[in-house]
Amino acid sequence: MSSDGAVSEYSDLRPREKCGIIGCASEQPVATELYYGLRILQHRGQESAGIAVFEGEIKSKRGMGLVHEVLTKDDLMGFRGRSGIGHVRYSTAGSSVLDNAQPIVVKTSYGDVALAHNGEIVNAAEIREDLSRKGWAFMTTSDSEVIIRLLANELVSTGDPRRALKEFTNRLQGAYSLALLINDTVYAVRDPLGIRPLCIGEREGTMMIASESVAFDALGYRFIRDLKAGEIVELRPGGFDSFRLPHPTHSAHCMFEWVYFARPDSVIDGRLVYDARVKIGQELAREHPVDADIVVPVPESGRAQAQGYAAVAGLPLVEGLIKNRYIERTFIMPEQSEREVGVMLKLNPIRSAVKNKRVVLIDDSIIRGTTLRKIVQIVRQAGAKEVHVRIGCPPIRSPCFLGIDMKTREQFIANEKTVPEIGEFITADSLGYLSMRGLINALKQSRDDVCLGCLTGEYPIVIPGEKVRKEKPLEMFAEASRRKETRKSAVKKH
Ligand code: SF4
Repeated sequence: MSSDGAVSEYSDLRPREKCGIIGCASEQPVATELYYGLRILQHRGQESAGIAVFEGEIKSKRGMGLVHEVLTKDDLMGFRGRSGIGHVRYSTAGSSVLDNAQPIVVKTSYGDVALAHNGEIVNAAEIREDLSRKGWAFMTTSDSEVIIRLLANELVSTGDPRRALKEFTNRLQGAYSLALLINDTVYAVRDPLGIRPLCIGEREGTMMIASESVAFDALGYRFIRDLKAGEIVELRPGGFDSFRLPHPTHSAHCMFEWVYFARPDSVIDGRLVYDARVKIGQELAREHPVDADIVVPVPESGRAQAQGYAAVAGLPLVEGLIKNRYIERTFIMPEQSEREVGVMLKLNPIRSAVKNKRVVLIDDSIIRGTTLRKIVQIVRQAGAKEVHVRIGCPPIRSPCFLGIDMKTREQFIANEKTVPEIGEFITADSLGYLSMRGLINALKQSRDDVCLGCLTGEYPIVIPGEKVRKEKPLEMFAEASRRKETRKSAVKKH
């Protein structure tokens, strides 16, 4: 992942979810269902898309671009299969090539297999080496190809899909939500820690699995439930069978799904994302109150948090920044100055709304801080008297190895500077981050059941060279950042 900016809509190289997945089993052709489902999941990946359906053999279409650019009406009319899977993908610059687009399809002596994967396999290199020794050839560099070759290997040796699924997941370490098509049968797999989301729904006997429940709402499906950590389901028209992998007693759901990635209208592991974000804003207002006149969200990512903040603070919520939805993504612009122009093209202030006002500006998180600095300046140039920034997540300091595209410690401003120094850098009058405790309260999950790796540097699974979580209680992290902060006086410029 290259690095820049806040984790908001305007940071050009902000962390991205790597993928969204979907699968469908029906008595009717499923290509159109998959297509619409993927369009709803488009926020989870915008660089490639594809579907695969079974019609005596697995047929697929995948390509670079948005779902509607890759799959034409003619493509959809041509697919008659009644079981299928689909995928949207984000990939880092350089690996954004068709070879890495999904679903990946392989032909084996057992039959055809297609895979759509959301997550990241930590021990992919080791498995790849092992399979290469057994004679399997690899076409791409992706960990998803490692998954499908490993599964194919088990299918060929066991001849039994259920057994193969159980066996092959024993070897996988990392985050994986999978939609699989093994000949005509759709399977969904969620890793034993439930790191990436996956849920199941039904409409008139058509069964669907999807990364987020919002796909069901929009297509008229009934949300049945989230897959449990370590659960495998086999879909058939009218129902599904479920079996469970060995799994620990706790989960490790990615906190970032609620904080930023998932759509606010999705329910993830029992918690509506919108509610979690409003609660984050409420916690933030209690932890970091400030004398101000209005609360302004960085659209869209800070909107629900700003509502929660405004309600507790008793301040009006004002849409002081308007987003241009039709400006193309700015990550293609290599120079920092050009990126900043990109922010200005995307965001415009409502001058009359912010002029002479003391503004609380709310965003979800900060990575490098350069984009947020630009946004603060835009608000200030529009006439705001003061700009106080509040962030709905503790400082991000560590890479993600589990499916979110933030890979190097150097990209995080929180590793270089104290909170007051970050406030100075982004030119805010004051800066407040949500505490770890506040975040856990807002998510309404047990601390044991969420991954906080990028905040704590301690991960829910063994990652070579990194710490495993639960070495210290959460308060220790709060203490560490407080100690750092006392070395600096609070940022106050006026
Ligand atoms: S390290 Fe952070 S982004 Fe990655 S899975 Fe854990 S909480 Fe999510």
